[in-house]
Amino acid sequence: MHDIIHLLPDNVANQIAAGEVIQRPASVLKELVENAIDAEATSIQVFLKDAGRTLIQVIDNGKGMSDTDARLAFERHATSKIKEAADLFALHTMGFRGEALASIAAVAQVEVHTRRESDELGTLIAISGSQFELQEAINCSKGTAFFVKNLFFNVPARRKFLKSNDTELRQLIVEFTRIALVYPQLHFTLQHNETELLNLAPTNHRQRIGQLFPSRNNAMQRQLIPIETHSSMVSISGYVGAPETAVRNANQFFFVNGRYMRHPYFHKAVMQAYEGLVSNQLTPPYFIYFEIDPSSIDVNIHPTKTEIKFEQEPAIWSILLATVKESLGKSHAIPSIEFDQEGAIDIPTMHASNVPQSQPKVNLNPAYNPFDNYSERSSNYQRPPMNWESLYHDFEKSKDESALEHPTLPTMERTSQGLLDEEREGKNYLLYKNRFILAGGKSGLMFIDRQRAHVRILFEQWMRQLRERRGFSQQLLFPEMITLNVADALLLETVLPELHDVGFEVAAFGKNTFVINGIPTGFENKPAVPMIELLIDTVKQNKGKMKEALDESIALTLAKATAVDNDRAMTQDEMSQLLGQLFTCENPNMTPDGKQIVVLLTNEEIEKKF
Ligand code: ADP
Ligand code: MG
Repeated sequence: MHDIIHLLPDNVANQIAAGEVIQRPASVLKELVENAIDAEATSIQVFLKDAGRTLIQVIDNGKGMSDTDARLAFERHATSKIKEAADLFALHTMGFRGEALASIAAVAQVEVHTRRESDELGTLIAISGSQFELQEAINCSKGTAFFVKNLFFNVPARRKFLKSNDTELRQLIVEFTRIALVYPQLHFTLQHNETELLNLAPTNHRQRIGQLFPSRNNAMQRQLIPIETHSSMVSISGYVGAPETAVRNANQFFFVNGRYMRHPYFHKAVMQAYEGLVSNQLTPPYFIYFEIDPSSIDVNIHPTKTEIKFEQEPAIWSILLATVKESLGKSHAIPSIEFDQEGAIDIPTMHASNVPQSQPKVNLNPAYNPFDNYSERSSNYQRPPMNWESLYHDFEKSKDESALEHPTLPTMERTSQGLLDEEREGKNYLLYKNRFILAGGKSGLMFIDRQRAHVRILFEQWMRQLRERRGFSQQLLFPEMITLNVADALLLETVLPELHDVGFEVAAFGKNTFVINGIPTGFENKPAVPMIELLIDTVKQNKGKMKEALDESIALTLAKATAVDNDRAMTQDEMSQLLGQLFTCENPNMTPDGKQIVVLLTNEEIEKKF
């Protein structure tokens, strides 16, 4: 018997390895540009032909290589970046496995020109399909130029696998963009078939985003809100878009230690910070950079993989959420800030003159569990104090008291009292078409949809009751019975605890029949049975959702059922009370189902009209 095991020839082994690292032209671009950055280049130029099929050329002005290094660089596991396994865990450079060049050279015709500053002559090396072809001294400028020609010329299967030029070019641009976003201080150019696609002069982060994603009048760039936080666990910085910049397909980028990553879980934290600020189908752009001890993220990542595992994901999740929320709050993304003290012309209930100003700050709670519904609004989490909160001191006080002791839901019924107050304060708000409250603010005129405002206020109150499990119930003098079909009866059984939490006292009465003994305070004038039926519908539509989502839909249904209709006038007092409550809401800007509550006509817009 012969032995049957033999070693694969190097070029075959390299080709196999290349399959992992080099999947398409974009992978080559990524590896070469990352190497240039590691070589401390300040200017990196990329030239492409035929979406990279024919040529990918990367020229840098970095530190270059000696002739021996240039030759060695193409060996598999040749790297100047790690010496021992432990280095893997503390790596800050881009490449780390010494595989890229060997892989590229296995599946393309590669030429490199390179010269160190201290050398008079540079080196030219040519390799094709892992076969060394030529090395000679040449005259060239400082730095390194790679020419990668005819990618996959020797792997027809791979070549066939490539997509259309459009698709491959798009992928090349995506890869280029991801790197350019991390290094605004570097000069990058990208040229395709003699056309210059991008020329990015060195600049700062914000401008770099603008260079890469130009929008009309730089609107998006101007509306980027900086975020920043530093802790021993992680540093987070970058920009998030103001709510108005939200679009269907926003540009959203996460980076960790200078590398692009995808992170669906962290993405949810950012989205949660926008809850109620943008409508459902839209998402805001963001560019968020994490810096973290490399040993606390999974380094065993494949070079082409973009998913990254963090050791402390839940904690970072909550830091991220708090940071984005805080920045949105600070940046006036929430229109309530329009009630600024100085120049706030016609809202007499504000006593702004000597309200102490304090910087918003966020208390992070390490025990915070993002899966615990709404716990960020519980006592462990302090909302960043906003100026307008103190401006609405009066409203707050009355609201807090009523919320704590007797959680009466606001009804718009206290008309006589309202008329008295109106006499005292004079008219300051205008109710337009029985629907919009007009209120002047520092920077313009606000239109507030009264009914939507009320829905938002009630929604948050119902949510609070669901969360804190202290619904207040009004006993019915004559308990009502409701008989359901089997399916609905089963469904109702499952949500009895939630209903109890908001103040419904409902008990099974046998044979698909239930008895309603009490209804929530605030429901005095509503018939109980239709309400229960409405809630069953809500639960049906939201079946299978997590408790949080279910609670939200229950709260929304209740809010809509109890909100005022636009059918009657409002007194000054009622309007001012409604606004006071609205602007102490978490999200005064939008209803829970994403409808605009407040529209601001800015002073400039008004003046322009004249
Ligand atoms: P890695 O980047 O993981 O070290 P590569 O195969 O990408 O592995 O590169 C091998 C080595 O070649 C690098 O460690 C570096 O020393 C050298 N090198 C590659 N590209 C350049 C460049 N543009 N300028 C200077 N040195 C380079
Ligand atoms: Mg590399």
